[in-house]
Amino acid sequence: MTTLSGKTALVTGSVQGIGLGVAKALAEAGVRIAVHGLATPEQAEAALQAVRAAGAPEARFFGADLRNVSEIEQMMAELADWGGVDILVNNAGIQKTVSLAEADAATWDAVIGVNLSAAFHTMRLALPAMAARGFGRVVNIASVHGLVASVNKAPYVSAKFGLVGLSKVAALEYAQAGSRDSGGVTVNCIAPGWTETVLIEPQIEARAERFGGDRAAGVADLLGEKQPSLRMSDSSEIGALALWLCNPIAHNVTGTTIPIDGGWTAQ
Ligand code: NAD
Repeated sequence: MTTLSGKTALVTGSVQGIGLGVAKALAEAGVRIAVHGLATPEQAEAALQAVRAAGAPEARFFGADLRNVSEIEQMMAELADWGGVDILVNNAGIQKTVSLAEADAATWDAVIGVNLSAAFHTMRLALPAMAARGFGRVVNIASVHGLVASVNKAPYVSAKFGLVGLSKVAALEYAQAGSRDSGGVTVNCIAPGWTETVLIEPQIEARAERFGGDRAAGVADLLGEKQPSLRMSDSSEIGALALWLCNPIAHNVTGTTIPIDGGWTAQ
């Protein structure tokens, strides 16, 4: 896809998992990539090498802790100096499964901070320049838990529903920016179901314990409960949809939340 070559993307949480899958998909289209996340120098370097190998003409690492607003502001200022953000993928997220009564204030603040407040800050700082250029894409990695609830996920479900709402407001506020020719400014969410990354490993391990430590049985049980396809998604599949949303042809796809969930939210 040559239409995106020369554009710059910030993909938060892209040193691993879904974020790295999205970063590699954009890199393949010739996008300059701001790799981001909490990472060791070795992990950051490995992610940079992966996006360069995928085709990114340039790649830089940013280590802002998204719980800290001033670190977000500094990162966005550095990115403005690097040419500005054409594509913003708010992907970084954390999850903790705990009952509502047992969730403490620190858990609530951290999950809301990383999954929701950080996206608010990156969007408020990136969208005006996107509008001025007539092209911009915000792809927020929400979750099926931005559309439906599950037990023991109050902070996470609250954050993801909030992210879906925040994205709709932004889509409306920027709907008239740019033109069909320039590509416009769109804001959408992708709502993954079970996707094979380290994020869900604690839940897989908890299930596996019910089957005497049999990991495959734990995965099958998790999928059987909610994901009708009985197949996990791969990060590259989330990347492929994010890339499509970034194509100028998608100029009129805005304010949507697209599940990749094997039918989870069709039930
Ligand atoms: P992951 O744990 O592999 O990656 C999370 C990323 O977020 C990491 O790169 C980490 O460095 C970054 N991060 C976490 N806290 C941070 C902080 N304070 N500051 C900066 N960066 C921080 O998880 P993943 O499965 O790839 O998840 C990516 C996104 O997809 C998350 O928003 C998650 O909620 C969402 N999601 C995942 C699944 C799934 O099944 N894996 C399903 C639905 C939604």
